[in-house]
Amino acid sequence: MKTIGLIGGMSWESTVPYYQVINRAVAARLGGLHSAKIVLYSVDFAEVALMQSAGRWEQAGALMADAAESLERAGADMVLIGANTMHKVAAAVEARVRIPLLHIVDPTAEAIRAAGHTTIGLLGTRFTMEQDFCKARFADKHGLKVLVPPAESRDALHRIIYEELCRGVIREESRQASEGITRDLLEAGAQCVVLGCTELGLILKDGCVPAPLFDTMLLHAQAAVNAALRD
Ligand code: GLU
Repeated sequence: MKTIGLIGGMSWESTVPYYQVINRAVAARLGGLHSAKIVLYSVDFAEVALMQSAGRWEQAGALMADAAESLERAGADMVLIGANTMHKVAAAVEARVRIPLLHIVDPTAEAIRAAGHTTIGLLGTRFTMEQDFCKARFADKHGLKVLVPPAESRDALHRIIYEELCRGVIREESRQASEGITRDLLEAGAQCVVLGCTELGLILKDGCVPAPLFDTMLLHAQAAVNAALRD
C-alpha cells in the first residue's frame, strides 16, 4: 500500500471526514484491521484564510509547496490538497515535489462523466466559483459545462463557508439557504451539483434536492485510496 500525503486543516472540519473516508475505504477494500498509511500536514487555517482574502497567493503557494515537500520527505507517495480553493496554487505544489498531486477536480469530473452528466452547477467559495482554477479544468480537461450561482448567492455561500462551516457551526437557516441556491442551479439547467468546497457536505446531503450531488471531499478521498491500493 502506498502512503497518502494530505495537506489538511483547510479547514480541519473537513480534514476529519477526509481521514475517516480514507481509512474506512481501505478497511472495506482490505478487510480485517487494515487502515490507511497517511501523512497529514495540518495548517493553521487563520493564516491561510488571511493570505486568501489579502490576495497573497504567492505566499499561499509557498506555504502549500513547503507542506508538500514535508510530506514527500516524510515518505508520502502522493499529495492531496484537502480544499478546492487552495488548488489555485496547485502549480506551485507540483513544481516543488516529485510525487504526483492528485487534483481534486479530476476524480470529481470523472464521476460526473461516468454518470452521464454534461452540465454541472458548481458551489464553493467565491474564489472557486468566480475564478478559473477549478472551472477551467472541469471545462477544458473534462468537457463539462459549468454553471455558478448569481453574485448574491455566491456571497451568501462564501459567508456560510468561512463564518460557519469552517468553524464547525451548522445552522438550519444556512442549510435552507444553501439548498435554495442548489435548487436555483438545477432550475438554471445544471444536471447535477458539485459540492466544490470540502465543508459543504456538512450541510448539503444526498437527497436534499432532486438531483445528484458530487462531493469533492468524498471523491478526492476515494481517489487517494484507489491510488494507494493500485499496483
Ligand atoms: N475547504 C474549502 C474549499 O474546499 C474552503 C476553505 C479554503 O478556502 O481553503 O475550498
